[in-house]
Amino acid sequence: MSIHGQNIIGFKNSSESSESFRAFNPETGQALETEFFKATKSELEEAMAKAVEAFKKFKNMDWSKRAAFLRAIADEMEALGDTLVERASAETGLPAARIIGERGRTTGQLRMFADHIEEGAWVEATIDTAIPDRSPVPKPDLRKMMVPLGPVVVFGASNFPLAYSVAGGDTAAALAAGCPVLVKAHPGHPGTSSLVGQAIVRAAKDTGMPDGVFSLLYDGGFEVGEALVGHPSTAAVGFTGSLTGGRALYDIAARRKNPIPVFAEMGSTNPSILLPEALNSRVDQVATDYAGSITLGVGQFCTNPGLILGIKSSGLDNFINLLGEKIVESQPGTMLHAGISSAYAEKKSTMVGNDGVVLVSEASVSGEATQGRPAVAKASGRAFIDNPALHEEVFGPFSLVIECADEAELAQAIAKLNGQLTATLIADEADLKDSELIVNALREKTGRLIFNGVPTGVEVCPSMQHGGPYPATTDSRFTAVGIHSIRRFIRPLSFQNAPQALLPDALKDGNPLGIWRLVDGEFTK
Ligand code: NAP
Repeated sequence: MSIHGQNIIGFKNSSESSESFRAFNPETGQALETEFFKATKSELEEAMAKAVEAFKKFKNMDWSKRAAFLRAIADEMEALGDTLVERASAETGLPAARIIGERGRTTGQLRMFADHIEEGAWVEATIDTAIPDRSPVPKPDLRKMMVPLGPVVVFGASNFPLAYSVAGGDTAAALAAGCPVLVKAHPGHPGTSSLVGQAIVRAAKDTGMPDGVFSLLYDGGFEVGEALVGHPSTAAVGFTGSLTGGRALYDIAARRKNPIPVFAEMGSTNPSILLPEALNSRVDQVATDYAGSITLGVGQFCTNPGLILGIKSSGLDNFINLLGEKIVESQPGTMLHAGISSAYAEKKSTMVGNDGVVLVSEASVSGEATQGRPAVAKASGRAFIDNPALHEEVFGPFSLVIECADEAELAQAIAKLNGQLTATLIADEADLKDSELIVNALREKTGRLIFNGVPTGVEVCPSMQHGGPYPATTDSRFTAVGIHSIRRFIRPLSFQNAPQALLPDALKDGNPLGIWRLVDGEFTK
């Protein structure tokens, strides 16, 4: 399979526009081969019309057929072999080992969703049988289950070219639910997108999916993405990326005549609270762990520890000194694309330029312009409480340490935190005895509370919550990782007094699918 720069409109490829763009190797600055053509209005309309048509068949398809489609996408992605790994690595600057790991996560997610939909409990089948002779009024027969929303538009982030991109978590969840997907390819990795998009189309054809179940559209700018979110036939949006991008799309969706949900997973500073006893007993280990987490993948993770809070003490001084030394020794690394490396340099310098913020240290090697130079800065609790600019994400290998005067100031600083994907508590037994207030305050701010660890590293499993109060996401009730992320793309539908023949199998008498159901208040198969 080779890369082509055409939009994928269902089972057809198309390049009507004369406007095109290329991908760049962030390491060399060289343009990579293949021109990618911006989707025209008519191509977008055709893709959406096909998705609307495909939805009619796809939503009612046996779960085993949809599961086979998801498994075939995983197989097709693996069959791309080194071609996919090499192109993704060339477009993002991420090492091959990281891309191979991410491919495993992506195919694992697809297969996980296949198993999940076959198991059937996800439709939450609930039946309350009729009581015709109930007085004063008879009780009707009511049967409820989850059904897919309709065509879903997916935007991937630059930092996960596979796991949060064309066949990533949002696409897998939406297809599993029974929703056709239209992906707006990230312009940072269009070749990777083309390869994966073609793999999805092959899988769709091989497993008998309807034309239009999947489309992939290109644009080097925002026009196509905005038009997709504003399109009357779009039923929901899955977005992974910056707060600016997510918020812009959320606002477009809210202004529509028929508003739709936008599940935007955005940035986070992932605060870590360092408590005194833990710093007294193992400061070196904590500093080593944090230096590793801050610089992992050149800091380009939404779970990067961008904010560290503690109470002013010799223990916290030691931590800052040790962390500072380790950052000096760390190496700059190539960032995902020129826009990200220049935004990092700019945001870091703006952050350090704020009143009361002091640069603790930077990597001794400054690196190339396209590389992210790790840095750590500090500020007082008061400065943090008073200045919202200190709460902003600096996407890259940077962390701000906040020295609070005492526990009361630490509590105030926590109260001022924005919503977060994660919050971490570094605490020994002795610290934990008195930490109830802190834990309770942190619970309100985050989707995942970590004890004695680092925020980077997101396990893909059912109990993972990857989401959090705004601005971490636009809807804290949902996760973007794990099987429960399917809930973003389904809605409940009740059938009242429906004849058996018109009911979906999940709700029929006798439970022909053999799934778990809540029948007259009791869970049963
Ligand atoms: P980004 O610049 O927001 O890009 C994401 C996608 O949205 C791209 O396709 C982009 O198109 C599009 N987009 C951005 N602004 C738009 C607008 N105003 N209108 C229409 N489309 C728009 O994000 P990124 O730089 O790729 O990713 C880095 C960010 O993602 C970080 O903040 C990171 O924390 C966050 N992230 C979050 C998670 C999570 O799960 N919460 C996971 C990974 C990354 P263009 O490229 O054409 O601008």
